[in-house]
Amino acid sequence: MRNRIFRSMLLLAVVTILIGSLLSGAVTHAALTERVHAEVRSEAKILSLLLPEGGTQTLFEQASQANPATRLTLIDTDGTVLFDSMADPATMENHADRLEVRLAMQVGTGEESRNSGTLGEKTYYYALRLENGQILRMAAASDGIWEIFLRQAGWLLAAMIPVLLFAAWLANRQTRAIVAPLLTLDLDRPMNNDVYDELSPLLVRMERQRTEIARQIDALDKQQQEFAAITGQMQEGLAVLDAKLQVLSLNRSAAALFGVDADTVRGRSFLTLSRNRSLSQVLSRAVSAGESGSAELSLGGRCYQLIATPVRPGAGGIGGVVLLSLDITEQKQAEQLRREFTANVSHELKTPLTSISGYAEMIESGIVRQEDLVPFAARIHSEASRMIQLVEDLLALSRLDEQAVLPDSRPVGLLAVSKRVADRLSELARTQKVTISVEGTDQTVQGDPALLEELVANLCENAIKYNRPGGSVTVSLSCEDRRPCLRVSDTGVGIAKEHQSRVFERFYRVDKSRSKETGGTGLGLSIVKHIAQLHRATLSLTSEDGQGTTVQVLFPAQE
Ligand code: ADP
Repeated sequence: MRNRIFRSMLLLAVVTILIGSLLSGAVTHAALTERVHAEVRSEAKILSLLLPEGGTQTLFEQASQANPATRLTLIDTDGTVLFDSMADPATMENHADRLEVRLAMQVGTGEESRNSGTLGEKTYYYALRLENGQILRMAAASDGIWEIFLRQAGWLLAAMIPVLLFAAWLANRQTRAIVAPLLTLDLDRPMNNDVYDELSPLLVRMERQRTEIARQIDALDKQQQEFAAITGQMQEGLAVLDAKLQVLSLNRSAAALFGVDADTVRGRSFLTLSRNRSLSQVLSRAVSAGESGSAELSLGGRCYQLIATPVRPGAGGIGGVVLLSLDITEQKQAEQLRREFTANVSHELKTPLTSISGYAEMIESGIVRQEDLVPFAARIHSEASRMIQLVEDLLALSRLDEQAVLPDSRPVGLLAVSKRVADRLSELARTQKVTISVEGTDQTVQGDPALLEELVANLCENAIKYNRPGGSVTVSLSCEDRRPCLRVSDTGVGIAKEHQSRVFERFYRVDKSRSKETGGTGLGLSIVKHIAQLHRATLSLTSEDGQGTTVQVLFPAQE
C-alpha cells in the first residue's frame, strides 16, 4: 500500500510538472512567436519609413546583414521579386499570388504563416505596401522561435531534475505520514483509534465483527467444555475421528484405554494408537463405505467392544467416524460362566441318570439275581436322591440369582437358627462320628430366616461331611465391632491353599469322589455366597490342609 501511494503521488507530481512545463512552454512559445511577429512587423514598418521608395540593392543588403535571421524581400507592383536576402530573385517565381502580398497590395499590409518554398520551414510573412506601390516583405522562420524555446527547455529540464527529486522526497514523506496512523491501528480495540474520519465505518464494522467473533468463540468454548465435561465423565471410551481417521477428540476413558494423552494425540492418525487389524478394517469400512461395524479388543486383561459409526459429510462437507468402546469383560465372563454352568449341569444330571438307567436296564433284562435286587434298588434310590438334591440346589440358586433384594426381611436371632440347624443335623453328625455344638451370645440380624437357616445348614453340613471320625463342629456367635459374626469351625480335612479361593464357585469340588460319596452337589458354598451377598454380609474362609476349616460370615452393623 505504501509503495502504491508513493508511486501514485510521484506519478501525479511528474504528470503535473510535465503538463505544467508543456503549458508554460506553449505559452512561452506563443509569447515568443508573438514577439517575433511584432518585431518583424515593426522592423518592416521602420524599413518602410526609411525606404519609402524602395531603395537601392546595397541598402537592402545592408539592412538584411543587420539582421540576418530576418528574410527581406522586395516585390514589384506586378509581383516580380526585385530583391531577396536569402535567394536569388532571378530564380524566384512571381509573388503576386502570395496571400500577404495580395493583401498588402489591396489594403496596405498583409501577413501569413506557412511553409516557405524557398526556406523549407514554417515561416511568418509580413508585407506592406511602400509609397511607390512596391511591396516590402519581411519573414522570420518559426524554427527560430523553436530554437529559442528549446534552448530554454534545456534549462527547464535541468531545473526539473531537482524539482522531481524534491517531489519524490515530498511524496515519500507524505506517504509515510498518511500510512503511519494506519500502521499503528489498534485492531483489538477498533473504537479506541482516532484516525481518519473515512475509516470510521470500517472501524465500526470491525468492532461489530470483533464482538460477534468473540461471542461465537465463547459459545464454541462453552460447547467444547460441555462436550468435554459430558464425555469426560463417561465410563465408555469415545473417540471422534475425521474422514482421514485422524483424532479430533478423545475422552478420558478412551485415552486411558489406548494409554495416550488426549491432548497430544489430537490430529494424529488413530491407526497409530491401535494396530488391531479387525478394528482398522471396521474403521476403514466406516469411512469408505459408510458402514457401521464393531470389533473386539483385549487390552490389559480386559475385553472391549469397539463400535464404529460413520458420520456422513454434512453441509460443511465434514464427515468422519465416532468410535465408542464398551467394557464387556464382565459380560464375557458371565457368558463363559453360563456356558460352563450349562455344561456342568448337563454333566451332573447325566451321571446319576446313566447309573439309574443302567441298573433299571439290568433289572428289566432279568439278569440280576434276586438277592441283588435290594442293593440295586438302593443304588437307584441314592442316585435319584442325588438328582433331587441337585435339582433342589439348582432351583435354590436360580431363585437367589433372580433376587436383588431380600423378599422377606425381618430381625432374625442367629442363636435360635444355629440351634435348629444343629438339631436337624445331629443325626448326620452321629453317623459321621462328629459332635456339633453352638456357642456364644445371640446375635440379631436383619434378614430372611429361611435363607439364613439354609446358609448355616450348608456350612454345618460341609463341616460334618468333610470331617474325621471323632472330630467336632462348632457354631460360634459373637459381635465384632458392632457387627454380628457367625463362625462354623471344624476339625476336618481342611482345604489346601490353592483351592480356598475357588470353593465358592459353582460345581467346584476339591475331592470329587468324597463329595459324591456324601451326596454333595458342588453347589452348597455357591448358595452360601449368594445368601451372604443378599444379606450384605462378608464371607471369609480360613483353613489348614488336614487341620480343619473355619468359615466366617460377618454381617453389617445393625441399626
Ligand atoms: P459339595 O456339595 O461338594 O459339598 P460345596 O459347594 O458345599 O459342595 O463345597 C465345595 C467343595 O469345598 C466341597 O466339594 C469340598 O471339597 C470343599 N469343602 C467345603 N466345605 C469344606 C470343609 N468344611 N472342609 C473341607 N472341605 C470343604
